[in-house]
Amino acid sequence: MKLLIVEDEESLNKVLVKVLRKLGYTTDSVFDGEEALDLYFENNYDLVILDLNLPKFDGMEVLRVIREDNAELPVLILSARSEIYDKIQGLDEGANDYLTKPFHFDELTARVRALLRRNFQMSGTKIEIGDVVLDMATKTFTVGGNSVILSKKEYGVLAYLMLRKGETVSAQKLIESVWESDTEEMEKSFYVHISTLRRKLPKDFIKNVRGQGYYVG
Ligand code: CA
Repeated sequence: MKLLIVEDEESLNKVLVKVLRKLGYTTDSVFDGEEALDLYFENNYDLVILDLNLPKFDGMEVLRVIREDNAELPVLILSARSEIYDKIQGLDEGANDYLTKPFHFDELTARVRALLRRNFQMSGTKIEIGDVVLDMATKTFTVGGNSVILSKKEYGVLAYLMLRKGETVSAQKLIESVWESDTEEMEKSFYVHISTLRRKLPKDFIKNVRGQGYYVG
């Protein structure tokens, strides 16, 4: 799960990255509207956390551009503007949720989980395929009831594939979605992780379509 965090308040931006990474999300973070759109068009994100008062482009403008391009991507607005008018405008422009600062981080993470769940049409926090079960809330993973320890990257790859059961995903897309944008040697690292991950799973759970990518289910 890759999230784009757009927040110009440096300390808040840093805490958001820290809290969300700790929960197993991959994050990119930027400090103004222009950078936000640059990264948005460069990468594939599963959710955007968007502040409204931003340098260069205002958050509402960023939201409009994103919505013209993608109607489905969940966007959670963070704003110090508590006026009901701003909230209504944000939701009218296509934000999926709205949180007024200051907020509690537990509330933020609960809303992030809810938006992702809604987007992937999950009924609970678990994804089950055969006897492989991944719990997105606790980041735990079991095979036939036995718990298996995954590294953060292995977890990211597996969750991405399990959420898109039956869909073949290219190595490039998996790398973009799971690795931070600035990490070097991403590709080499990807092949190492996919091979260690496959060894922890039932045989052929992750299938490889030659030249196209990987899928589960
Ligand atoms: Ca701001």
